[in-house]
Amino acid sequence: MKINDNIIEEVKSSNFVENIIEEYLEANPGEKVHTRFPPEPNGYLHIGHAKSICLNFGAAEKYKGMCNLRFDDTNPTKEDVEYVDSIKTDVKWLGFDWEDRMYYASNYFEKIYDSAVQLIKKGKAYICDLTAEEIREYRGTLTIPGKESPFRNRSIEENLELFQKMRNGEFEDGSKVLRAKIDMASPNMNMRDPVLYRIAHAHHHKTGDEWCIYPMYDFAHPLSDAFEGITHSVCTLEFEDHRPLYDWALEELGFENPPHQYEFARLNLTNTIMSKRHLKKLVDDGIVTGWDDARMPTISGLRRRGFTPESIRDFCERIGVAKANSLVDVALLEHCIREDLKEKVPRVMAVLRPIKVIITNYPEGKEELLTIENNSENLDMGYREVPFSRELYIEEEDFMENPPKKYFRLTPGKEVRLKGAYFIQCNDVIKDENGKIVEIHCTYDPETKSGTGFTGRKVKGTIHWVSAANAMNAEVRLYDHLMIEDENQEGEMILNPNTIEVLPNVKIEPIKDELLVGTKFQFLRTGFFSVDDDSTLDKPVINRIVSLRSSFKIK
Ligand code: ATP
Ligand code: MG
Repeated sequence: MKINDNIIEEVKSSNFVENIIEEYLEANPGEKVHTRFPPEPNGYLHIGHAKSICLNFGAAEKYKGMCNLRFDDTNPTKEDVEYVDSIKTDVKWLGFDWEDRMYYASNYFEKIYDSAVQLIKKGKAYICDLTAEEIREYRGTLTIPGKESPFRNRSIEENLELFQKMRNGEFEDGSKVLRAKIDMASPNMNMRDPVLYRIAHAHHHKTGDEWCIYPMYDFAHPLSDAFEGITHSVCTLEFEDHRPLYDWALEELGFENPPHQYEFARLNLTNTIMSKRHLKKLVDDGIVTGWDDARMPTISGLRRRGFTPESIRDFCERIGVAKANSLVDVALLEHCIREDLKEKVPRVMAVLRPIKVIITNYPEGKEELLTIENNSENLDMGYREVPFSRELYIEEEDFMENPPKKYFRLTPGKEVRLKGAYFIQCNDVIKDENGKIVEIHCTYDPETKSGTGFTGRKVKGTIHWVSAANAMNAEVRLYDHLMIEDENQEGEMILNPNTIEVLPNVKIEPIKDELLVGTKFQFLRTGFFSVDDDSTLDKPVINRIVSLRSSFKIK
C-alpha cells in the first residue's frame, strides 16, 4: 500500500498483523497506526520479547505510526526498578525508539479507579467477600456453569462505599475483591464475573504506599490501551480468550474508537527456557551468574555473549509472525549471527588448546612480519602484519602422531601449510616422562612462503598458528545450551549439566589494542568470538558466540 504523510512510500505487508494494519489504514484515511510494547517489569527481557518488540515497533515504523513503551506494573510485589532500567536499555539496544512515549500503567491508577467506580454505578461491578478459594469453586468448569456469588446483588450504594473503604485500607489483603458483573454461565471462563481489583498492602516501585488496591492486568490493560489511543493491541495467543473481556470493559465504559486486540503465536525455541519465572529461578538458584550470563536467552545475555541487534532483528524477520504456535530451532538464531558477522568482523588466528612447535631450521631470535588479509570474504577490510618466528603454537588437535586416513593436518613426515606463512614438516616429537607431547619439532621450507607464487608442490591442509613470543594470553569461554531438549515427567526441559568450558590458556596473535568489551572476531577455523564484560587488559576474557559451522540447513 501507499502511505501518505508528505512522502508517498510503497510498503508491503509481511505478516497478518501488518495486513490488518493495512486494512485499517485503507478504511481510515488520515489515521495513524499506534501500537505499544507492554512488558511487566518483573524480570529481564528475553528473545521472545524481541519478537514482540520487532513486531510492535517494526509495524509502527513501517506504517509511519507510533509505538509506546508501557510498563504493565500492576503487580507490585514482583516488580522492581532494576527491571525497568534493563528493559529500557534492551529496547534501545535493539534499535527502537519510543520517543517521548514511555508510560506506566501505574500512571493511570487514578483513572482506572474512576473507571471501576463508573462500572459500579452502572451496576456492572460489585464487591465480593468470597475467598480466592471460594471464587474458584463458584466459577465452575468448562462443562459446569458457575454459581453466582451471594454478594452479587449488593446495592450500588453499598458497593461504592465498600470500594472506597477498600481504597482507604480498611480491609485485609484477600478479604474482598471488586468483580465485573457479567455472566456466571458464560462458556468463556474469563467472563464469569472476573476480578477487576484486589487488595494488596504492598509497596509499589512507582506509587510507593499510595495504593493498597491494585487493578488486575485484564482490567488495567484495555484501559491503558484506550487512554493512550492505541489502535492495535498486539499480544500473544494465550490472551485470545481474554479478548471478550477486553472488549466488554471498553464498551461498558463507552470509549469511542476503542483499541482492538490481535493475537499472534509466541516464540518457542529449542533448548531454551523462555519464561521470566523460570529464568529468574536460574538466577536465584545460582545456576547462572545473573540475568546477563552469556548462556541466558535474555537480551542482556545474548548481548554479552556477542549477539548483535542486527542478528536478532534478522532472526525475528525470518521466523515471521503466525497465528499458530510452533517451535523454532535455536540453530536459526546462531545462523543469523554468523551471517551478520561473517563479512563484518576481522578474522584472526587464535589457538584454543595450544601445543608448541619449534621450527628447528628457522634462525633463533629472528622475527618476520607476514601480510595476511583481515577477512578473506571481504578484502575491503584490508591486511595486517602478523609476526612469525621460530617458536609457534598450533592447536593440539591439528597434530596426530598416528593419523587415520584423510587427516590432512600436521603428522610426522608430511607437510602442511601454516596459514599465510610456510609449509612445515614434522620430524620429531618430544614427550615428557608420562608420554605426553610437549613439543613438535619441524622444519620449514623458505621457498614456500605464502604470497610469493610458489607452485612447486601442493599440500592438502592449512592450519592456523600463533608466534609464541608475540602471543597474548586469554581466557576463552565455550558455551553449550542451558537446556537439554528431552523432557522430564512434567514435560519441562531438563537442565544441561555441562554448559560452560573455560580454556585458561588461549594464545592469540597480538591484537591487544582492540580487546575492548564487546569487540568481535572470527577466530580462523574456530568460530565467532566476543570480548566478555569480565575482560581486563591484563586478563582478556573472550566468549565464543557460536562455532563456525552448524548442521542447520536454511531452506
Ligand atoms: P513470560 O511468560 O516470559 O514471563 P510475559 O508474557 O509474562 O513473559 P510480559 O512482560 O507480559 O511477559 O511480556 C510483554 C510482551 O511480550 C507481551 O505482549 C507478551 O505477549 C510478549 N511476549 C512475551 N513472551 C513472548 C514470546 N515468547 N514470544 C513473543 N512475544 C512474547
Ligand atoms: Mg505477562
